[in-house]
Amino acid sequence: MPGVRVRFAPSPSGSLHVGGARTALFNWLFARGQGGRFILRIEDTDRERSSPEMVEDILGALQWLGLDWDEGPFLQSERLDRYRQVADQLLSANKAYRCSCSTAELAAKRQAASASGKPWKYDGTCCGLSSDRSAERHARGLPGVVRFKGPRDGEVAFEDRIFGRIVHQAKQIEDFVLVRSDGMPTYHLGVVLDDLDMKISHVIRGADHISNTPKQILLYRALEQPVPVFAHLPLILGPDRTRLSKRHGATAVNTYRDQGYLPSPFCNFLALLGWSPKSEVESLSTDELIHQFSLKGVNKSNAVFDLEKLSWFNSRYLRNAPAERLFPLIKVELDSEGLWNDEFDSSGRAWMMKVIDLLKQRVRMVSDFATQGRAFFTDDFAIEDKARRKFLKSEVLTVLMPELAARLESLTAFGLEETESALRTFAAEKEVKAGLLINAARALLTGKAVAPGIFEVMAALGQERTVARLSDTSWMEDEPRAGE
Ligand code: GLU
Repeated sequence: MPGVRVRFAPSPSGSLHVGGARTALFNWLFARGQGGRFILRIEDTDRERSSPEMVEDILGALQWLGLDWDEGPFLQSERLDRYRQVADQLLSANKAYRCSCSTAELAAKRQAASASGKPWKYDGTCCGLSSDRSAERHARGLPGVVRFKGPRDGEVAFEDRIFGRIVHQAKQIEDFVLVRSDGMPTYHLGVVLDDLDMKISHVIRGADHISNTPKQILLYRALEQPVPVFAHLPLILGPDRTRLSKRHGATAVNTYRDQGYLPSPFCNFLALLGWSPKSEVESLSTDELIHQFSLKGVNKSNAVFDLEKLSWFNSRYLRNAPAERLFPLIKVELDSEGLWNDEFDSSGRAWMMKVIDLLKQRVRMVSDFATQGRAFFTDDFAIEDKARRKFLKSEVLTVLMPELAARLESLTAFGLEETESALRTFAAEKEVKAGLLINAARALLTGKAVAPGIFEVMAALGQERTVARLSDTSWMEDEPRAGE
């Protein structure tokens, strides 16, 4: 589509939220798929609630997700003159007026309306003032706002690309504020002027903005400018079907990043919050998402945020990723856990690749390499209670494990076949089940009740470490074995 220009316009009053990230992603996918431009704009005119730290947080989260922007970031706070100039233009054209109703007056009227069960909208008190009178009040320094002077009759309709035709009656739309008493533009004025100046072709944003759209359309009309295409995205709900919030767990994108989720599966997960691919396959790479995404595929119905699905995408991605790609991410994790050893990137690099390939089968997040896989990177690990309780209970193990260690020590080759046959022969001789020894060996070698195949673990640890761990009897003296 020629001339596609879309934007993501977060307000930096908090971290980038999952809902914001989904909006950014849909805009980005649309721009990339259509050969258009993706513009980043920071809506920071609410001075009390905006902060530079949050701008940094948002930019960092977008970069982490890989959503690169072609223009911007533009800051609304740097365009204040432009908004004031247009507000003045609207005032002179009698399409806006100054209002000096005080907050207290408005609150009293709102309260009276609600007491009589009527919906409140600004009653236009100041609209009737002659322009001289209102200019005089302004000159006297009475604090006031600039309000848009809306039509009193007719319809405001638009064709939403996702929700279809939406019609409002003009008389129900209040004369909304364009410029606050501190001289700052409101969201409506800023958003419309920016979308115009930035030549935005499609406004793709959350459905919570549907109710703002008629006001913005009125402003486009007053400015005698064409209206962009609107496409509102369905809301995101928590598993209990209420609007997604902190009650449902982390909502900030950076928290997921810090927990070890990866950008590609995270984008895959976000993409499915309100969009359905044409194919049956839900697990898609970013390139596939770009290729398949269309506004037609966006649903009206609310999307449900399902953490299980995110974990599933993440583990699937890890399982399928080449060890070389995961290596730098794992390095960061190991480093932060104090497990990094420079040899892992020199003489031990080939070994690391094998260990990564082994561990990636079972992990859900990158951080699991350092936690579940700890015993591969250090000898300083504990045997988890669950493993101890389930697999180290039998008294015979106190004799059998050191004997098994001796048997393994005598092997001249230490491959999967050799270790497996040694263990099974030993079990048969001792008339115990091989499973008893396998489970106990797993607990002693990895500290975990669940781990990769035991003979692969032995091969990865090598003969020396395997023998040392199996012959070390200190676990018997550790605190009373749970379950006893
Ligand atoms: N700053 C607004 C928000 O964060 C942008 C709304 C819009 O895209 O028009 O919700």
